[in-house]
Amino acid sequence: MRVIDLRSDTVTRPTMEMRRVMAEAEVGDDVMGEDPTVNALEARVAELFGREAAVVACSGTQSNQMGVRVHCVPGDELLIHETGHICNFEGGAPAALSGVTVRTLTGPGGLLDTADLEGRVRVNDQHFCRTRLVCLENTTNLGGGRVYPLEVMERVYAWTREQGLKCHLDGARLFNAIVAGGYSAKDVGRCFDTISICFSKGLGCPFGSILVGDGEDIRKARRIRKLFGGGMRQSGIMAAAMLYSLEHHVARLAEDHEHARRIAAGLRRFEGILNVPETVETNLIFFDLAKECGTAVQFAGAMREAGILIGPMGGQRVRMVTHLDIAEADVDRVVRTVGECVERGFRDRPVQGKGPFSR
Ligand SMILES: *Cc1c(COP(=O)(O)O)cnc(C)c1O
Repeated sequence: MRVIDLRSDTVTRPTMEMRRVMAEAEVGDDVMGEDPTVNALEARVAELFGREAAVVACSGTQSNQMGVRVHCVPGDELLIHETGHICNFEGGAPAALSGVTVRTLTGPGGLLDTADLEGRVRVNDQHFCRTRLVCLENTTNLGGGRVYPLEVMERVYAWTREQGLKCHLDGARLFNAIVAGGYSAKDVGRCFDTISICFSKGLGCPFGSILVGDGEDIRKARRIRKLFGGGMRQSGIMAAAMLYSLEHHVARLAEDHEHARRIAAGLRRFEGILNVPETVETNLIFFDLAKECGTAVQFAGAMREAGILIGPMGGQRVRMVTHLDIAEADVDRVVRTVGECVERGFRDRPVQGKGPFSR
């Protein structure tokens, strides 16, 4: 039985063609600035976003934290949505790596607008930390794969400039947002001081992230990357996969979004499934299980027996993620299997195995 893995879009495996370009990549020592494939990738991404420079990183966590460190010094504070990856899923890195305090805010769908930020900048007084940075996430992860409208990003950026703050985008799934949001990379490039992008999610690379911004910020980020242990050598092997994915795996993200919409539409019909959002904009589907069916961890166990892996997010909450390795034919099997599981119920199952955020 083929296993359908909906736990995350990080589970994609590099295709044969991607492995081939990796094997054939021209490489050099990137810490010495001599890897031609890395240099080509950084130039390509900077150009794509209409910015001066870019620097590759090992992971999205690393490129985000490089961004935090570029803009902040110890004692500073950043403003972020309470569901933000930077403050929830990066091991406490703003505090641990940069001495930065996090102030969390609320807004629908993991999104922040100026109305949510207004009044949150601390006055310049020795009692207070210095509010320095606003971090947005596009698409939002725990917010449900929501896409920032371009005008909101523009408004927030204009506001941060007025306030003398910096603005960083956690664009782990930025290409999902670009494909779904009807704006260009250059449009987004105009709205932030720095942008971090993951290539190991929907784009299907085995690893690799990048930080984009102005030359001065990226020069600083390169020093910080070394400090954070991310200076790699023949990273052209990684960059080759990243370049390949820019050519071949961006437009197809629309298929992942369509699959997610169809799964959501199927799930809405089941009584045991609650809170399926009205609109699924990208590749993340969150929903809750009715209490009488059982918990998300028990549900994950029942689904696993049928060869489908899903992400229990604690309590009744479940996340499913579509990606490159999910075929159109999988959609019906997912919906059918969920239907069978909720009909049978799973609350008498032993609670075994733990999801990433299960309780
Ligand atoms: C996955 C993710 C990241 C980075 O994760 P890594 O596993 O470190 O690459 C950052 N932000 C969001 C919103 C993510 O989903």
